[in-house]
Amino acid sequence: MKTFLNYKFIIPIAIIIFILLMIFNPLSLLPGEHTVVIAEEKVQSENLPKQEEKQGMEKNYSKDKADEETSSGTQKDKEGQKSPHETEKNNEDKKSSSETQNDHEAVPPKEVEEQKVAYLTFDDGPSKNVTPYILDILKEYQIKATFFVIGSQAQENPEILKRIEAEGHMVANHTFSHNYKYLYASPKNFLKDLEKNEKLLDELLSNYSKTGIIRFPGGSFGKSKAATRKAVINEGYQYIDWNVVSGDAEGNNIPPAKQLNRLMETLENKKSAVILMHDANTKQTTIDALPRMIEYIQSQDYVFKTMADYEF
Ligand SMILES: [Zn+2]
Repeated sequence: MKTFLNYKFIIPIAIIIFILLMIFNPLSLLPGEHTVVIAEEKVQSENLPKQEEKQGMEKNYSKDKADEETSSGTQKDKEGQKSPHETEKNNEDKKSSSETQNDHEAVPPKEVEEQKVAYLTFDDGPSKNVTPYILDILKEYQIKATFFVIGSQAQENPEILKRIEAEGHMVANHTFSHNYKYLYASPKNFLKDLEKNEKLLDELLSNYSKTGIIRFPGGSFGKSKAATRKAVINEGYQYIDWNVVSGDAEGNNIPPAKQLNRLMETLENKKSAVILMHDANTKQTTIDALPRMIEYIQSQDYVFKTMADYEF
């Protein structure tokens, strides 16, 4: 009976002693704490290279604001998961990270800036006195331009028209007659005249590509031309006006310096600059103005394209 009682109490007492030993014995505590430290160090070593990598990316590459907000949000989330002694260490990281972001906001990286495009367009040719000189200058600067030609002029100067095409420029339709009174009397007249020019260009040129890109004589703007604009679109054409001028249409023999000023005034860092100029016989000073205008446009980091590359 006595043995039974002893046996009955020994097991719970042994369990209690074992539990007490587990709690108070420093030898059983140490390995547990050690494991926690290793785990934290592991978290640190996993996090740190990622942050350095991210900061490096922010320095080298551009990101838009939405990305920045997302990345700082992610960083905050990570800090929320960290133990207190880690947070102190990472305050420095946070500081340098915010400095990087301020730098980023102050100086937008150049890589993301959209490439500015300049479209040189010459209207009302081809002419004997002006077009060949324009072509010489474009060849010298290795620039391709767009020529909105008048059919009646093309009939008079077919060789010059062919030279425009042969030298890689774009030939586009500027109506056959360029006669405002006739053209704007009715949309029907306008379409008839366009079609006449389209046929002529196709006959004269070996590779006339019917892009359907046209320019209204005098521009497409104004209520009075609304019906014509609609008719032209319905026929599958696309019309383009301009957003930069050299002012060579504001009279004859406009001095080159004045043309350059007009160009500088109206270019205004536009992403897509459609530049209006003229190669009609009366526009002699456009020849003199052209090299300096090209050099100015180049100095403003534009690339030159023809209207074939224009996004309507
Ligand atoms: Zn014109």
